Amino acid sequence: MRRSADELKKMRRAGRVVAEIHEAIRAGIRPGVTTAELDRISREVLERRGATSNFLGYHGFPATVCTSPNDMIVHGIPGPYRLREGDLISIDCGAIVEGYHGDAAFSVGVGSVSPEAARLMEVTERSLWAGIAKMNPGTRLNEIGRAVQAVAEGAGFSVVREYVGHAIGTAMHEQPQVPNYWPGTPGPLLRPGMVFAVEPMVNAGTAETRVLDDNWSVVTADGKLSAHFEHTIAITEDGPEVLTVL
Ligand code: MG
Ligand code: MG
Repeated sequence: MRRSADELKKMRRAGRVVAEIHEAIRAGIRPGVTTAELDRISREVLERRGATSNFLGYHGFPATVCTSPNDMIVHGIPGPYRLREGDLISIDCGAIVEGYHGDAAFSVGVGSVSPEAARLMEVTERSLWAGIAKMNPGTRLNEIGRAVQAVAEGAGFSVVREYVGHAIGTAMHEQPQVPNYWPGTPGPLLRPGMVFAVEPMVNAGTAETRVLDDNWSVVTADGKLSAHFEHTIAITEDGPEVLTVL
């Protein structure tokens, strides 16, 4: 799907709201704060901007943000969990403006974290930017995942396979998917107007995952740390344009 200039305007606005939520949550993260409080911060920004949540009610998801600490990879439900000094917390959220979606995620340390946690976050974010750098017209879609994988595995980490990025527009999750690894085929050509959410999930240990009894929270099978970074990016004639920024 290729978006018109008018549609991209709306997606920029949705992306900016997501970036504002990130900024507000980042400012609220400190030891002792509950993950439910981070959801409240997100709801305040959405309301102030007249935007709606694409997470709340998605297949019954009960919040506007996913909060996934430490060995939790994605889809953690905000609640009574209190952030602790040394936690690595992954935050994923989105917004809808005039029917168009934005989606982005980041991981951050609570206070000071272990050198391994810091390196995992740095590498995961760098792998996202390596993928974004491939998002030029004429490139094949799966070059994104190939670049992500090279950075993550080059650092000795592993890339989650079961959860992937996606096209995005009038729905949060559109086809095609964007794997964070080379799937064996090059995939479609990238063309101006296409918009994708690229979102590497990188594990310190094994790539294997497990879903907890709440049927949402995805954790690493070996209990080691995981990090997650995501942006919504449009392909333009001039290359990638990151939409989920202020
Ligand atoms: Mg997301
Ligand atoms: Mg996404």
